Amino acid sequence: MTNDSSVNGCCEHSERKVNFGPGPAQLPLEVLKNVQAEFLSYNGSGSNVMELSHRSSAFAKIIQEAEQDIRELLSVPESYAVLFLQGGATAQFSAVPLNFLNLKSSQTADYLVTGYWSEKAAKEAEKFGKINWVVPKSDKYRDVPSESTWKLTENSSYFYYCSNETIHGIELEDIPSIVPKDTPIICDMSSNFLTRSFDITKFAMVFASAQKNFGASGLVLVIVRKDLVEKSTNKSIPVTFDYKVQIANASMYNTPPTFSVYIANKMFNWTKRQGGLKSMNQLSDKKSKVVYETIDQSNGFYMNVIENKYRSRVNIPLRIMKDGTANEKLESLFLSEAIKANMIELKGHRAVGGIRISLYNGVSLQETTKLVDFMRIFQKNNS
Ligand code: PMP
Repeated sequence: MTNDSSVNGCCEHSERKVNFGPGPAQLPLEVLKNVQAEFLSYNGSGSNVMELSHRSSAFAKIIQEAEQDIRELLSVPESYAVLFLQGGATAQFSAVPLNFLNLKSSQTADYLVTGYWSEKAAKEAEKFGKINWVVPKSDKYRDVPSESTWKLTENSSYFYYCSNETIHGIELEDIPSIVPKDTPIICDMSSNFLTRSFDITKFAMVFASAQKNFGASGLVLVIVRKDLVEKSTNKSIPVTFDYKVQIANASMYNTPPTFSVYIANKMFNWTKRQGGLKSMNQLSDKKSKVVYETIDQSNGFYMNVIENKYRSRVNIPLRIMKDGTANEKLESLFLSEAIKANMIELKGHRAVGGIRISLYNGVSLQETTKLVDFMRIFQKNNS
């Protein structure tokens, strides 16, 4: 079961702070200590993992175990490849259209843009061909327009969306139902990956960068249907972006980010030990509930503008209000007082301002409760 005690160990280790950052994010203390214990000599090898050859049997075991664990956690069938690639999720913004834009006769892909990250992905894809924006561009992302208003391409090569917009705090819990069955669905799950269960067989591909829920930056996990990769006819894909090459070489066409894969392996194992995605889902529910309750019971002192249905359980942006407007002075005071109370990385993204609370798997319920207690006291002292 989920260990609701202080998983990052803020209270057990005097220098550790509670980190509510959007990523790179806090990891469980248990995992960090385990890495520390193996730092100088991994498993009797006399070397750190980052000093081992990626062709060594020790590293082969690490990457294979990581793949097995993710297959187990998500029930990934053999018809999908699991790849550990470089360049973060951003590299996939280019790799996806390069590999799949020519899949169908329309030579067009549909992009559902619901915030900063799906917008970036759509703009990148436009460099490679025709992209259809399913809903009109917005300058204020607060909800997702109803599916009945979506404009889909007939015979689209794929449908792309982001299941959790990390900056705007918009999460789509359900897979869009309006997408035709034979249109491959591709999803950027970077910020809510491993926080809930999902049926991988409903997707052609999902990808997630590691630095939020499973470790160290630079690494991106790609789970992709092998038959679709086979269908791609683009012969001009830069080699490290070419899924065919990566599958044929088991993610080791060149040197993979070995240390990040090692941490991912530890995090997948930790996730399993916590009770898997069922426990992570419950934990996400509990943590986000106490934060949203605090916001909603604040009589408008704290404000989150996202429509309830799409409120993210993982990234919660909020403004602190005074006389009906967001008050930057109060927000800076909130941030500096939070730091004094050992809680860091709460500043909102520059695109939306204010405060952002990120509640990835490495943040415990106890730590979240500490934050909401702080929020209540801050409101009492400043409203
Ligand atoms: N997609 C989402 C939803 C993200 O939150 C991020 C990073 N914050 C990215 C993509 C980009 O990831 P990276 O920085 O690893 O390229």
